[in-house]
Amino acid sequence: MTQTNARLSVVNQDTLVKRQFGHRARLALSPAEVVKTDDQAHAARTLWNLLHAWWQMMPKEKRTLGHADAAIRQARQDIGFLAVLPAQAAQAVLKTYVQAWKNCWDGRADAPNFKGRFRAVMSVDIPQGRDLNIVRVHRRWGMASIPKVGRVRFRWTKDLPVGKHAGAENRITGARLVKDALGWHIAFRVQTLEVKPEPHQGPDIGIDVGVTVPLALSDGETYEHSEWLTGKEKAKLLHLEQRAAQRKQYRKPGEPTSRRLHHTYDQIAGLRAKAKRRALDWQHQTTTAIARTYGTVVVEALTLTNMVKSARGTVEEPGKNVTQKSGLNRSISGEAWGRTVTMLAYKTARHGGTLVKVPAPGTSRRCSACGHTTPGSRESQAVFACKNPDCGWSGNADYNAARNILHLYRMGHTLTPAAGRAVVRRAKRVKPATARQAGISQPHPGEHFKCSRSSTPSRAATTRSGLAKQRLSGSQR
Ligand SMILES: [Zn+2]
Repeated sequence: MTQTNARLSVVNQDTLVKRQFGHRARLALSPAEVVKTDDQAHAARTLWNLLHAWWQMMPKEKRTLGHADAAIRQARQDIGFLAVLPAQAAQAVLKTYVQAWKNCWDGRADAPNFKGRFRAVMSVDIPQGRDLNIVRVHRRWGMASIPKVGRVRFRWTKDLPVGKHAGAENRITGARLVKDALGWHIAFRVQTLEVKPEPHQGPDIGIDVGVTVPLALSDGETYEHSEWLTGKEKAKLLHLEQRAAQRKQYRKPGEPTSRRLHHTYDQIAGLRAKAKRRALDWQHQTTTAIARTYGTVVVEALTLTNMVKSARGTVEEPGKNVTQKSGLNRSISGEAWGRTVTMLAYKTARHGGTLVKVPAPGTSRRCSACGHTTPGSRESQAVFACKNPDCGWSGNADYNAARNILHLYRMGHTLTPAAGRAVVRRAKRVKPATARQAGISQPHPGEHFKCSRSSTPSRAATTRSGLAKQRLSGSQR
């Protein structure tokens, strides 16, 4: 028995919490292995497209898991290149596809559609964790088995429950291979049983998404970062973008994109991915530090449109560094706030703290010293100077806003008790699953296909479904 298990066994079972999370690591594949994995991903995408065509073509009563499974088995026999995809991964495609429809029926997502060769993210599922045989071989490297590819190395950046650390409660339940601009990655699904954290005794803190600083805290601390790309990298990105624009300009209408242009696009995507990865790293470090230090973290319930507006400023007081905040920087910072909140939500929960959201309006205009909102107090984007004659407080505008946010929480203006996971997006007209189960608006089984947001199949879809009919109908004959 390992040390961890020994420690857990003496702890009361009520104080243990099951935790499921993902961990993504970079794979080191040889060129031949990259080709094999690419082929698997293309086969998985093709299978999805065939399945979608089959689903749309089938009469409603025949759209069952059993029939779909039979069709997939037949297709894997009939179409040679589909066989490169392991059977388990093919099953996972079906499972994902059915889940996509369920998400659509529950109003969480649009109807599933065909996946394009260049737009869709390339991915392959490895649904069973025991197939992976993960071993740590070096301080920085681990090895895993990928079905039909072989043993591959991956970067070891987190201690995973493998080998003697694995058990019924602490284990890797599966993985997924995902390709982005920086190459193939493996995302592990990890399940652990941990001791429930003690309630965090740290202080309360308000956080504002700053205009002049990325994160301003109500105790006066700020979290800043440098530019995501160095001067040299930015110059290269600009050069590549100009070159891509030029090549695109000289392409005749209807001509396919040249290899050179594709290469330039790949280089651009690589640099952007690098910038995004640096931003993500900074966010992880910052949010971890905050979750460790503070007991209650209060944030504004901010919408994205508000934030872009605040960067741009108003006509009377234009924003600072507007050009710098547009483009790449903004596209990163735009996603960043939502992700920061998500990270804070699960990280505070892990450390025994809580994340609280308060309503946004007025936090940047109210004086945090006297509580008055007087016109003209916001002297510039950076400076706040109270115009109340009895007060006259002045200081950093972001610090002021952070203090207001904390004040709103202390006054009890809590908007949402933000729990450890993101709130499920749901279309307004769709009733929640509980209401449907209660028979309030039980759809006819056949009605399932008519997802409220699905559109009529396009011409491409119709022709492809004809193709799929020929290919997949073998199972029905
Ligand atoms: Zn004041």
